[in-house]
Amino acid sequence: MAITESILSIVLAEAEKRDATRVKTVKIEVGELTNIVGDCVKFYFELMSKDTLASGAEVEIAEVPLQAKCPLCGKVKRVENLDFICECGTGMKIIAGKELAISAIEIE
Ligand SMILES: [Zn+2]
Repeated sequence: MAITESILSIVLAEAEKRDATRVKTVKIEVGELTNIVGDCVKFYFELMSKDTLASGAEVEIAEVPLQAKCPLCGKVKRVENLDFICECGTGMKIIAGKELAISAIEIE
């Protein structure tokens, strides 16, 4: 899984930069719109991190709900069924839910 591979390489680069002996925890934010299943990321990470500094690291996944904001009236809502139209009739802009980011790395 390419996404997990890139997460792992970022984590390992960071760990090396900080002279870590091992990676304890990796926190990842996964946006709803990415269609990435957190459990899959977790599973592949554990598999791919074998024999690396991140072997045995705890992977915490935070799923970020899809949210949009209206540029006209400023209303923010949780988007369901890909309904991006505001109550006022304006198309809303995505403000959360597209992210795939490492929010924290704990090392030893
Ligand atoms: Zn509006």
